[in-house]
Formats: sequence, structure tokens, C-alpha cells
Amino acid sequence: MNGSKRRKVNLQRQQNNMKYDFCIVGGGVSGLMTALVLQKYFPLKKIGLIYSPLHKEIGVGESTNISWQQFLEIVDIDPGEAFRYCDATPKYAVKQINWLRDNHTWTHSLSTKTDIVFTDDNTTKSFLPLPDPSHYWSKRQWMNIDPEEEIKFLEKFSCPGHTHPQDAFEFSDPAGGHIQRPLTELLFDSWLCNFDNFKAIDFFRKVCKERGVDIVEDTIIDHTLNANTGYIESLKGEKDSYISPFYFDCTGFKSLLLGEIVGSKRTDFSDDFLVNQFTAFPTPLLNSPNSAIWVETEGKDDCWTWRIETAGRGGNGVLASSEFMTDESLENHVKEMGGDINDPRNPHRKHPFIPNYRERGLHKNVLGVGLSGAFFEPLQATTFGYVLRQLILFIHTYNAWTKEPEATEKYYNDIQLDNIKNIYYFLRTQYITQKNTPFWKAQREEAKYSFDLKEKLKVWKYRPPFYSNEINATLGITMGCGSLTELSSLRSLSFFQPGSFYQLLCGMEMIDHDAMLKYQLDMKPQINEAIRREVIENRIPSWLNTSQIPTSIFREAIKDISANPEKFEKRKVKFVGLPTWTDYEYVSNGVSYLIPIHAIFLRKGVDATQSTRPALM
Ligand SMILES: Cc1cc2nc3c(=O)[nH]c(=O)nc-3n(C[C@H](O)[C@H](O)[C@H](O)COP(=O)(O)OP(=O)(O)OC[C@H]3O[C@@H](n4cnc5c(N)ncnc54)[C@H](O)[C@@H]3O)c2cc1C
Repeated sequence: MNGSKRRKVNLQRQQNNMKYDFCIVGGGVSGLMTALVLQKYFPLKKIGLIYSPLHKEIGVGESTNISWQQFLEIVDIDPGEAFRYCDATPKYAVKQINWLRDNHTWTHSLSTKTDIVFTDDNTTKSFLPLPDPSHYWSKRQWMNIDPEEEIKFLEKFSCPGHTHPQDAFEFSDPAGGHIQRPLTELLFDSWLCNFDNFKAIDFFRKVCKERGVDIVEDTIIDHTLNANTGYIESLKGEKDSYISPFYFDCTGFKSLLLGEIVGSKRTDFSDDFLVNQFTAFPTPLLNSPNSAIWVETEGKDDCWTWRIETAGRGGNGVLASSEFMTDESLENHVKEMGGDINDPRNPHRKHPFIPNYRERGLHKNVLGVGLSGAFFEPLQATTFGYVLRQLILFIHTYNAWTKEPEATEKYYNDIQLDNIKNIYYFLRTQYITQKNTPFWKAQREEAKYSFDLKEKLKVWKYRPPFYSNEINATLGITMGCGSLTELSSLRSLSFFQPGSFYQLLCGMEMIDHDAMLKYQLDMKPQINEAIRREVIENRIPSWLNTSQIPTSIFREAIKDISANPEKFEKRKVKFVGLPTWTDYEYVSNGVSYLIPIHAIFLRKGVDATQSTRPALM
């Protein structure tokens, strides 16, 4: 053999057979979340994650809900560290501008809070299976409070706090003096965040590596199936082959393993959601350095748009249907939002998609996680939460799957179908607006209502959903003041909790407040006085002056305090007749701010006072 021949042989690298207990294909947020959850629950198993340098992660998806915090807690990631690394901003709410109709805005916190009512002596709180009777929406209607009279944030919002960075209030500290507090504090139970998707990928990749997940850059190009069972036996990449008893398809819209290889059929919801394309593009921050701490969506005549502000930039998008949207109109919408549809650097100028879920999210030896398993539309940031729910159910059924795979597959998919319905009910209801442009009229009148949604809405008008068989959600029960109410949603696999549905139905004006409160009063007459008193107590007293706290300071405070909580003073504060709680004092330019950070962005256990947060509603 001459010299050059010998070199060629050496260069032809032998393919290795990499063996894993779990093999994940896809390195976007879904794949990385999967790796972290598996690593946490099966620490002795060998986990491999393969992602392709040829197929870039989708990169959109920057808004979270309470599942994010649950996820970080489950996988033992310091939420403050994730916040700092991923250019995050706190997220308090979703503002829906011109949504129901023009010149109408409603804001909701996606709170899971539901059932707090007073006990007979009004000293403690207990629960009834009722949708949050002390919620401002209903209280206000029921007590005939004139919206013009009431301070704006109690009136305008489904949640009792306000989310504008320019709004804050100042009040007398019981210890003397005046303290500035951000109004956002009132939304203490909605401590979510918006972050940069690519930075999140970097961050989770780093954590996965540190925890021993084998992360491999390779592109899957072929596979072998077991001739009898149809299970995947191995995947062949350009570099190596991968063998595992169980695979996770996290390949995004491609659904390479679940859809293409093992053939789980797509259940198409194109007739329910008349949307099929998105445009996404970054822009500089509008209020730099004070990024917005909510997600803004706006109903336009022929589409809806979104804007999310991370610490470093704005993430914007247009969701539309090719049937109702012209190129010219799309170009104008993008321009109006500060972008350029013709910018060749943008990969998502007119990205098609099909609202769908895979009939069997678990099929053969594959679980589809993330976009590969389901995606209807992006309005309420459901995917990360659904990913977590897919994984939680998986880790508790895998053992059964190894013994009885077919029965477990059915069991798993039946449960997830309830979860899909829960998400469907919520998202589909948002498209039933009062607008009469062809796009919105068609969503309301021509689009399909699956899963008996129409019938449910008739009932929910008088009594919003609360029991598990309706929306597959257990009661979000909060016992007493201060517990982190959202954690109650861990008791349920469902994404949207009763409190979220309540907010949705209020915002979409699909609820009869009088009838609902009457129903509550029939069952618990003394609630009348308790609610009346609570409304009065919680009306913003006249001695509160509005002042300002920039969100940049707020964000910096979260970063600094979460990094070194011991360096900051804690202050006990009493607010309008509610129990005392403790916040961190943060001084910037000589002004002292009290930062309510302990619930979400501090590592659990750092702040022993977190259970003292009051249940403001
Ligand atoms: C417009 C829009 C807005 C959204 N907004 C939100 C939101 O606010 N909140 C939220 O929770 N979710 C949101 N989502 C969903 C969110 O984008 C996704 O959940 C998230 O980005 C994760 O995607 P993924 O990991 O499933 O797929 P991707 O990010 O697409 O990753 C796919 C991975 O598969 C790999 N891959 C593909 N083919 C191969 C192959 N042959 N071999 C090896 N690897 C391969 C790729 O390399 C990549 O790593 C939104 C989605 C859209 C479309």
C-alpha cells in the first residue's frame, strides 16, 4: 500500500456505536429540558443528546409561565443564575391590546389562584371549590364600583397589580419615613420571566455538560427498525450510530423520530385555529434600559402581533393566516413594529406551521417532546409548560412502559389528551373575539370548535371550570396566606388552572359576574360581608402617592440580590391591613427600594421568610 492510500484509510473514521439508556435527538430548549429532567430523576442512567449543526434551533419562544419556575426547581437550577445568564426580565402579565374589540385592553397574570374565601370568623382563609370569589373582576361588578372612580390598576386589570414600569407607589413605612415600592410587587404570585431563547440554550447546554449528559454534534440521517415491533433499534448519524432502548424526539417541527420514523399521525387543527404562518424578528428595546415586564399582544385586523422584551432586545412577531394576510400588509405590520421583513438575516420572515398535535405523543419507543409533539399557536407561551408536563408523566410511567409498553402507551396518551384539551380550550377561546374583520369573524364563526368547547362555554358563563374532569385541573388550593399558590398547580398535570380560565373568561367578557357571585353567596352567605370588607381594605388609599421605579433598577436588583442575598438588608413591611412580609432593601442613586424577590428568583431555602408573603388578590 503506498503512502497516500494509507492516509485515506486512516481518515475514514470508523463509526462508533454509542449506547445510551436514553437517547435524545434535538438540542433546542425541549431537548435540553428533557436531558435535565431525565438526569435528575434517573441519575444512574446514561443520557445522550444529539443535535445537528445543520439544523438550527428555532430560537423563538421567550416567554414563560409558572412552569418555568417549577422546572428550575425540579432540576435544581438556581433561578437567579438562569435569570442572569439568559438576559431575562421579570414577566408579570400578558396585555391583550385591541383584542376583544378595538380600544379595549385587558391584562391577565395567568394566575393559578382560585379558591380563597374567608372562613366564618374571617380570621383565616379556607377554600371552596369556587373560582376566586374575591377576584377584582367580579367584586367590582358586584359592588357596582364605578371604574372611573377606582384607581386605575384595580379597575383595568384582571390581576390586582399593575405592570407598567413607570408606575409605582409610595407609602408610609410603619417604622417611619417613606418608602418607594414598585406596584409590580402586588403581583407577587406572577414572578415569571422573559428570556433570550439562544442564551437559554447556551445555559442549559452548559448545565447538561456539567451534569454528565453526553452532548454530541451530529446529524441523524438514517435508522434501523425492529422488524417485529417497529421500534427504533438504532439511529445513524453522519459521524456515529446511536443505540438506545428509548428515544426522545426533540427535533422541533420536523418531528423526525415520532412523525417520520415511527409514524405517529398528526391531528390537524388547521380548521380550529385559522393561522398558519409566523414572522419573528428582533428589535432594540423600546424603553431602553427599562424593558417592559409583561408580554404585549395586539389584535390587528388581519392578524395578531406580540412583543416580548428581554433585558437586551425586543422579540417581536406576527401570527397570521396566509388566507387573510397579504404580503404588503405583513410588511407594514413588521415595519410598524420597528422591523424589516426583507432583512435576509432573519430566518423567520414567513415561517409556515400547522396547528397540530401528534395523536400519540408516546409511540413505540419514542416520546415526542416540545414542538415535535404538539403546537397549536404561541399566544400564551404554552410549550415549555407542556414539555414539563410531558416529562413529569413520562418519568412516572417509564417503569411501567418497560414491562407493558403497549398498555402504558395508551395510558400515557389518554392522560396527555386531557392536557391537550386543557390547552386547546384556553387558546381556542381567545380567538372568539367581538371583532368583525374577515380574519376574526372567521375565527369566531367559521372555524371549528373541537372537544365540545361550545357547550362548555355555555356553562362556564355562569360557573367557570374548576373540577378536574372539566379541564383536567385539580383545584388550585391555597391554604392560608403566603404560600406560593402556583405550586398548587403541581398537583395537576394540566397547564391552565381554574384561576387562569377565570381570568380568560372575564377578559373575553364571557362571564356573568352577578350570576357567579350569587351562586357563591347562596352557598356561603357570610362571604358577602367578607368580600365587601376586602374590597374596601384593598382599595388604594388616598394617601398613596404614585412615584416611579424604573424596571432597569428592578431587574438589576433581582440580579444582584439573587447573586448575593446575604449582602442585602431585609425589611419587614406591613401593607394595608395585610400580614407583614419581608423584602430586600435595594439602594440605587440614594433611593431605597424594597424588592419582593424571594418567591421565585432566589434559590429555595435562601429566604426563610418566603412563607410570609401575603395573599393579595
Ligand atoms: C412563533 C413562536 C413563538 C413561541 N413562543 C413561545 C413562548 O413564548 N413560550 C414557550 O414556552 N414556547 C414558545 N414557542 C415554542 C418554543 O419556540 C419551543 O418550545 C422552543 O423553542 C423549543 O423548541 P424545540 O426544542 O422543540 O425545537 P427546536 O428549537 O427547533 O430544536 C430542534 C432541534 O432538533 C435538532 N435536529 C433537527 N433535525 C435533526 C437531525 N436530523 N439530527 C440531529 N438533530 C436534529 C436541531 O439541531 C435542534 O437542535 C413558540 C413557538 C413559535 C413557533
